[in-house]
Amino acid sequence: MIFQQFNPKLNRFSKVFNKKTLKTFLFFVLSWGTMSAEIKHTDVAIIGAGLAGLTSAYRLQQAGIDASLYEARDRVGGRVFSIRIGNTIAELGGQSISDGGNAPTLRALLDEFSLELEHRLLSIDCAYRTEKGLLFFSELLQNKPFSKEILIEAAKGCSTMQEVLDTLFEKDDPLYAIVEKRLQTYEGGPVDQLSLFYLDTLYYIVNGGLASAHSNKTASNFTAELSPIKGGNSRLPEKIAEQLGNTVHLEKVLQKISRSETNTILLTFTDEEIVSASKVILALPCSVFQHIAIEDNAIPQQVISTINSIKYGDIGKFLVPIKKQKNHAIENELNQHGVSLLDEEAGILTFFCSGKLSHFTPETIQLSYELTMPEIASTSLSIAYPTSSEKNSGPIGYSWISDPFSRGSYSYIAAGQERILTPIIDVDGIPVRKCFQPIRNQIYFAGEHTTVDLDSLGTMEAACESGERTAQLIIQSHKNP
Ligand SMILES: Cc1cc2nc3c(=O)[nH]c(=O)nc-3n(C[C@H](O)[C@H](O)[C@H](O)COP(=O)(O)OP(=O)(O)OC[C@H]3O[C@@H](n4cnc5c(N)ncnc54)[C@H](O)[C@@H]3O)c2cc1C
Repeated sequence: MIFQQFNPKLNRFSKVFNKKTLKTFLFFVLSWGTMSAEIKHTDVAIIGAGLAGLTSAYRLQQAGIDASLYEARDRVGGRVFSIRIGNTIAELGGQSISDGGNAPTLRALLDEFSLELEHRLLSIDCAYRTEKGLLFFSELLQNKPFSKEILIEAAKGCSTMQEVLDTLFEKDDPLYAIVEKRLQTYEGGPVDQLSLFYLDTLYYIVNGGLASAHSNKTASNFTAELSPIKGGNSRLPEKIAEQLGNTVHLEKVLQKISRSETNTILLTFTDEEIVSASKVILALPCSVFQHIAIEDNAIPQQVISTINSIKYGDIGKFLVPIKKQKNHAIENELNQHGVSLLDEEAGILTFFCSGKLSHFTPETIQLSYELTMPEIASTSLSIAYPTSSEKNSGPIGYSWISDPFSRGSYSYIAAGQERILTPIIDVDGIPVRKCFQPIRNQIYFAGEHTTVDLDSLGTMEAACESGERTAQLIIQSHKNP
């Protein structure tokens, strides 16, 4: 999935915890002899060390609650994954904090860990290739006002965003193709799947912006704020993991969830270790649940069906080191495979791809890259690729849909799912999405897909918000058992 040596410093937690875990395990086995030796007990077990799981674990630790975190990969961070390319840190997953609006939960964590954000305003105008040459999105939109009223009118009788686009544009209008790709890359899913819930995003796109999260900064000026963490987004998950110490267990792939005779939850991992927990937080993408054996007495079938119905996009990334050459204008481009975003200051062009070509593997990444990029490389972009430091290293990219522990990029609400996925209820004074309400005060769900801030669904803020709120639910239930 990626042909690039990662900065070892960014992945320094890899093996450390496993040795510690092994020691703890051996100590446990030796001191308890034959008494249920293989089953370790924890008050709260958290599965998944992405931002959601880490935030929960951290808040529970602060509240003095015994919690252990189990993660399938050899690193923390999940869909946040920073790498070094030459002298630059680049993001293979979650990139801009501002996609989650003001991102209050994430910003609070950044303050607590003394991490700072970078702020860059990038052009989101883009060139689109036709037989007549390159057409610019900003020019195509000139003198075409799209008010909210126009869009609401167009959406009448429609159930998908594709139907709305069909009402607004002729099929061969270049605007159709541009808006379609923009909507897909921002919200994750193809327009024939996206719910009318995303009408608001369409409004900002056709007014030169990106989404409501960026509304006050970008509407009408074809720029968007890029705000990653200084030194790489992975610094936040790593800092939290450092704080959690040996309660984080890496390379622990959850295989089975069941209920014991004494009503604790039993978690079986692929290495055959079994952990019993009074409470469990499942901070996993819905897309991986199908690969975990879940007994009915742990999670009812109806809940599992809803989880399995949640859709994920297939957005992948290629990261291209660039060097601006004199007299060459560099522009973003959009083609049928995706859209590029140029960060000149960082010297990186990110190409967000979707569809078949984003489903690459280490064996097929070169082919996918060659099929998606040449158009872009040969025109207004002057991509110095490979740059001197990256010579012969091959394309740099990541396919999240091909990754067994994400199986998709980020969740979205599909047409027809609004009534099941959007209602919010109150649990002990804390808002919870009804479809993700806790089961018997024992099994809790966290992750970007569970956020109650529906506008930020699919973002890093959504993950932190869900983790924070889930920890509060457990803290509350400890106060009032
Ligand atoms: C290409 C791309 C671009 C993005 N751009 C942005 C952006 O610019 N701004 C933004 O805010 N967001 C962005 N996002 C979204 C953001 O990265 C995610 O919403 C967020 O990181 C999700 O966090 P999470 O904790 O919910 O899930 P994850 O990070 O997926 O964490 C879940 C964890 O569970 C682990 N796991 C899975 N299966 C098992 C198992 N069986 N046993 C144990 N552990 C398991 C996984 O390894 C993972 O670590 C982007 C995402 C992608 C893919």
